[in-house]
Amino acid sequence: MLKRVLIANRGEIALRVLRACRELGIETVAVYSQADAEALCVQLADQAVCIGPARAADSYLNQTALLTVAKATGCDALHPGYGFLSENAEFADACAAEGITFIGPSGDTIRRAGSKSAARDLMREAGVPVTPGSDGPVDSAAAALAAAEAVGYPVLLKASAGGGGRGIRRCDGPEQLPSSFAEARAEALACFGSDEMYLEKLVLQPRHIEFQVLADRFGHVIHLGDRDCSVQRRNQKLIEEAPARCLTPALRAAMGEAAVRAARAVGYESAGTVEFLLDADGTHFYFMEMNTRIQVEHGVTELVTGVDLVRQQLRIASGLALDITQEEVTLTGHAIECRINAEDPTNGFRPCPGQVSFLHFPGGTGVRVDSCLYNGCTLPPYYDSMAAKILACAPTRLEAIRKMRRCLEEFALEGFPTNAELSYQILYHPVFVRGGCTTAFLDENLPRLLEFNQRLSEREGEA
Ligand code: ADP
Ligand code: ADP
Ligand code: MG
Repeated sequence: MLKRVLIANRGEIALRVLRACRELGIETVAVYSQADAEALCVQLADQAVCIGPARAADSYLNQTALLTVAKATGCDALHPGYGFLSENAEFADACAAEGITFIGPSGDTIRRAGSKSAARDLMREAGVPVTPGSDGPVDSAAAALAAAEAVGYPVLLKASAGGGGRGIRRCDGPEQLPSSFAEARAEALACFGSDEMYLEKLVLQPRHIEFQVLADRFGHVIHLGDRDCSVQRRNQKLIEEAPARCLTPALRAAMGEAAVRAARAVGYESAGTVEFLLDADGTHFYFMEMNTRIQVEHGVTELVTGVDLVRQQLRIASGLALDITQEEVTLTGHAIECRINAEDPTNGFRPCPGQVSFLHFPGGTGVRVDSCLYNGCTLPPYYDSMAAKILACAPTRLEAIRKMRRCLEEFALEGFPTNAELSYQILYHPVFVRGGCTTAFLDENLPRLLEFNQRLSEREGEA
């Protein structure tokens, strides 16, 4: 088993990794930027080392600093969490070159999955269905126009290196394409340092269904069922659940098998996610991308399978074989997660981190909270605005929805606005309750959902 792990991340995921390490008797070294000196993870880790100024480029993305600290503190492994360097193939290679186990797949695997355009080609070869789209990247507006003509509008222009919903533009016709192409390309370059673009046919009213996979270095690959992440605002997930209500057992089996094939096609090791789109009829599914890291929403899978995914990552990185077989994976009950972001939904979702003056998290049976917040802490403005994840698990979906509503009623945070009230409204929306949300649901219903939000805060103001 690994002895000492450097946690190369911050926020709730750093804490999540720390907890799994501690339960396995693995020592932890936290790293932090000057903005995170008071972070919970820094206080709880066996050791903590400051790696630079607030800006991510100077701290959490500073590969040299991270490797220097890992070596100086005698770590034998490094956990990259999500975001930051978690899907950086060069960094995975650099860790390996220094004799530090990167807790995730190899650099080569990350490269194979990391170019979303190249991954589509690999998946096609492996017999995993992909959306109709460009054959490889499109390197000019003219090439994009030709590819769009061939697949038919509407299309999505997507960044090959994209992530977190950025570098994506919808395009409904040829007149719109040149400007959308330029926009998406500029965003991709700014966010990911690469302006390679590809194009996919837009799947209308789709659901985002993803499969959790686990693979060890002995060729065992299993999936741990699915998650429905269709409640998204501008391609970013807000509420996730497991299992997806819209899947029949036969479709679940077929998609799970495709997910395992996808993982094998890139030579996967560790925990990963294969994302699919399911069409409006719920019959055809298409590979979208593979995320080669632990995902934000991994907790809902843990609640319905009873498998600790970060623990599995640590075991696999230690060179152990998977200790569960596909047949042993069973899905019990239903789990829902609400992401709590420091943002103001009534003001264009402007991020608005600040100091927490009062905090109370929900509890009780079937409730889990993953968060780096504590009373009095300050959420720095330099990073992602996600501050907490509230999860609820119950025997049926309706009971899980009721439990989650109850959780959000108990949840109290003063100091900055959050999206909690919006999520609460969604949990009462008839489309959500009947399990009918597609990825278009939230953007289409946002004005009305926010009206309630507005009326509520006015009522609170009066009282
Ligand atoms: P996804 O939206 O890709 O399914 P998650 O919602 O799990 O992934 O995203 C994990 C976190 O990492 C989010 O905070 C997201 O903004 C960020 N993120 C994802 N991909 C990238 C990337 N390629 N570069 C930078 N940040 C990313
Ligand atoms: P990211 O790496 O940013 O997570 P994805 O390729 O996973 O990018 O796409 C993000 C979201 O964009 C999906 O969850 C889905 O809602 C939407 N999307 C992506 N591709 C398509 C498509 N071809 N048709 C319809 N929606 C899509
Ligand atoms: Mg994605």
